[in-house]
Amino acid sequence: MNKQTVVAYLTGVSILFLAVIGYYAFSFSQETTNASAASTLTQTPAASLTETPAPVSFDSLQAYADVQTQVAFGPRTPGSEAHAQVQAWIRAELESAGWVVEIQKTSRLGHPIFNIIAKRNAEAPQIILGAHYDTRLLADNDADTVSKSKPGPGANDGASGVAVLLELARSLPKDTVPLWLVFFDAEDQGRFEGWDWILGSQAFVAENDIQPRAAVIVDMIGDANLNIHFEKNSTPAIRQEIWDTAAALGHGDVFIQTEKFSMIDDHTPFLAENIPAVDIIDFDYPYWHTAQDTPDKVSAQSLGAVGETLWQWVVNQK
Ligand SMILES: [Zn+2]
Repeated sequence: MNKQTVVAYLTGVSILFLAVIGYYAFSFSQETTNASAASTLTQTPAASLTETPAPVSFDSLQAYADVQTQVAFGPRTPGSEAHAQVQAWIRAELESAGWVVEIQKTSRLGHPIFNIIAKRNAEAPQIILGAHYDTRLLADNDADTVSKSKPGPGANDGASGVAVLLELARSLPKDTVPLWLVFFDAEDQGRFEGWDWILGSQAFVAENDIQPRAAVIVDMIGDANLNIHFEKNSTPAIRQEIWDTAAALGHGDVFIQTEKFSMIDDHTPFLAENIPAVDIIDFDYPYWHTAQDTPDKVSAQSLGAVGETLWQWVVNQK
């Protein structure tokens, strides 16, 4: 190797070296550019979110788990151990979500009644949301003679409404208009000797001196095939507000704006006292009052459609 060859060799090595350095420098700068472009993209929507209202917050999977929990207690028939257990559980769930709980202890037709009332504070309620937590003494619509001589599980008829109310207790903002959540006892015992329907809500309205702007009842709203029509006796203006709220959230397929059924339910005693009231119910449920009213007939999606709608409707109240 002579001197010229060495110079040429070193020059060649240097050029290669610079080319490699240049290549890495170039690709590094490209990565940096991409990364900063990505961070710009993620920052833009986050900044604009602060200018829009808080999004609906409702954990439908938690609501579904709460249906399963209630069914696991066993049938929550008046006087049963499971009835006492579900009552204690509802109370504990409400208290851990920051609500003050009162039990209205009274009686109707000689039967003890325990309505569970949850409040945020001492203010008179402008809104009442209600659901019944008892289940029927017998699954008397079941075709099977053994099944119809026992109580049913009440996954949709009983547990679904309670589950939606409990998740609203956890998720609603604290600064809503004054609101009570009421878990009615003894709704579902009509046509049995010595009983009637809606004993708990009758006792609630008779013994509480209140004048809310609306009482909204949820009952049988967990059906996996959910179609909630306008209930005929419900106050038309409030009914329209709630169904419009559902449509705005994309639940117009579930909340159908035509009348179908006329119900005796926990809204009836409020209407009798001229308190505006709405019954949110899907009465097209083939497993009603049977042993097949089990959690697999209920869906988290259905509970979520109703829960989100009520969450937004309550938050919209001024
Ligand atoms: Zn029922």
